[in-house]
Amino acid sequence: MNNAGNNSGMLIIISGPSGSGKGTVVKALDKSRYALSVSMTTREKRPGETDGVDYFFRTMEEFEDMRGNGKLLEHAIFCGNCYGTPRDYVEQKIQEGRTVVLEIEVNGALQVREKFPHCVLIFLVPPTMEELARRLVTRNTESPETIEDRLYRAEEEIELLDKYDYLVINDKVENAVSRINAIVDAESLKPFRCEGLVGELKNGAWHEMRIVDMCNEVSEKRTGEKATVEKATGKEGVHAKAVV
Ligand code: 5GP
Repeated sequence: MNNAGNNSGMLIIISGPSGSGKGTVVKALDKSRYALSVSMTTREKRPGETDGVDYFFRTMEEFEDMRGNGKLLEHAIFCGNCYGTPRDYVEQKIQEGRTVVLEIEVNGALQVREKFPHCVLIFLVPPTMEELARRLVTRNTESPETIEDRLYRAEEEIELLDKYDYLVINDKVENAVSRINAIVDAESLKPFRCEGLVGELKNGAWHEMRIVDMCNEVSEKRTGEKATVEKATGKEGVHAKAVV
């Protein structure tokens, strides 16, 4: 059950230029609240990355096999490597009513929007482009050519920003996380995500009493309260006409 009192799942997509800190922000999200999808990729594993945790690292052949069998929800090529979202995990978690988070690039995000029109697209950016370059250089996981490639790619991705629902500046990880939580809270209160409650409100099942009975009950209660006050203040009967 989410804060809107319903249990329909939600799909959140977080994109943003390489070096915007998406990975760090997504890892800092509350795991009891969000189900994080693990992508498949053909790129080389970086030091410190674990298969099945950071990505499912697969050969081109294995990737093609998954894609050919319709087991990827979306897929894209990014700076020479293939990336894709395993379909089963996402569909299963949404059915369970979980809020699923995908951390993927823009082309994949737009493919998902075609299939799940109500998914929420969030674009994460660092405070400045210089900061982006600094983060890419200091994390020291890519060659200078790859960094340059990723910076040009960042410019292309920013061009597609208008297709997104929300923009989040990642000045500090904790700020970005609370902005994402606020977005998800607000999204979960949209009427189309609370169909059960909206239905009850509309068909009157939300209140057990008829409106006329409610009014009578409130009116009787008020009359009783006024009489008690007047009795206590010795003004009994003085404003008898005014008591409804
Ligand atoms: P990296 O190589 O830095 O881990 O990821 C490169 C880019 O691929 C990032 O923008 C990341 O968000 C994106 N990416 C990661 N997984 C997927 C995926 O499953 N699908 C798509 N379309 N992009 C992905």
